Amino acid sequence: MKKKIFPLSISLVLSISIFLSGCGTKEPKLLSHVDTAMGTVVVQQLYVEEAAGETLKAPDDAILEQISALESERLSWRLETSELNHINQQIKEGEEILLSPQMEAVLTDCLDVSRNSGGAFDITIGEVTRLWNIDSRAGGTEESAEYDLPAEEQITEALANSGWEKLSIKDHRLLVSADMSLDLGAVGKGIALTEILSYLQEQEQVVGAVISVGGSVLTYGEKPDGTSWKVGIVNPLNPGGMIGTLSLQGQWCVSTSGDYERYVEMDGVRYHHIMDPMTGYPADSGVKSVTILTKDGFLSDALSTACFVLGEEVGMQLAESYGAEALFVDGQGRIAMTEGMKPYFHLSNEGK
Ligand code: ADP
Ligand code: MG
Repeated sequence: MKKKIFPLSISLVLSISIFLSGCGTKEPKLLSHVDTAMGTVVVQQLYVEEAAGETLKAPDDAILEQISALESERLSWRLETSELNHINQQIKEGEEILLSPQMEAVLTDCLDVSRNSGGAFDITIGEVTRLWNIDSRAGGTEESAEYDLPAEEQITEALANSGWEKLSIKDHRLLVSADMSLDLGAVGKGIALTEILSYLQEQEQVVGAVISVGGSVLTYGEKPDGTSWKVGIVNPLNPGGMIGTLSLQGQWCVSTSGDYERYVEMDGVRYHHIMDPMTGYPADSGVKSVTILTKDGFLSDALSTACFVLGEEVGMQLAESYGAEALFVDGQGRIAMTEGMKPYFHLSNEGK
């Protein structure tokens, strides 16, 4: 059997901080930074004003540290240092689970999206995602080329231990009625954008920024030349290229979920990392990618995953119920979007 593994993120560790000098003018300087965090590529472009005689601080380093801390202290299911890892341990051991205020807020928001998406978005499917293990298989190493599909019985068992309705929050405590594992992979990057935004709002010297954490992008403030931020949307049929761009002014969050991001292909079948919680198999709604445009990072990320599972018609309704805009690309490269997305979207030549 021919087995192929396609790497998502090339091990790209470019830790470059370049100050492009403004040649003595008062124009804000462009600070560009590419690095990795949260298992993905983080690209930052910050326009920073430097007051006379002041040493420029390094907001790009601070942002990277912020993303890494978010992962290691709160959201990672792998790292033993994180609150989520601790919660999963406590579930296994049947212990009482007291939530931090931040985690309580995240889990409450997740349950809201689960309810409104009819369970298409479900953070309780950790046992299912562990079983498929596509996230870690997508590293592209020689070892990861060995991939065995999970057995039907294993999937049924993992599914039996999941279900957002088996989770509730009371008096800052998490109540769980199954032997489940929580997985916040669908919202981690979006939560990072929300936190980066709070940080930027406190940094008077940053006048504008565009920051991408994997497939989630934050735009903030203005470009010194007054032009809009351009956020490219990857062509899911040819991930090396763009199907179009969004032109945005000011603060926005854009998240894309696609079947090209992390996957294993066997015998011509693509097994990707976005699961349908109804079946326990990779979602198969006919959609290749979904892009969500909204002001809130968490919501953009949660809805992109939910809409991918739901497909175009129902996904569009879900996005609109949250006041978010959505763009879907199907297997033929056909694009469908909410009315409110149209003014922002420009088709690239490749997508024509
Ligand atoms: P990416 O992480 O590549 O940006 P997504 O935001 O769509 O993509 O999140 C996918 C991740 O979310 C998976 O790797 C898995 O950890 C988790 N996940 C998969 N399916 C679901 C689902 N139906 N509901 C919630 N989380 C999911
Ligand atoms: Mg997501």
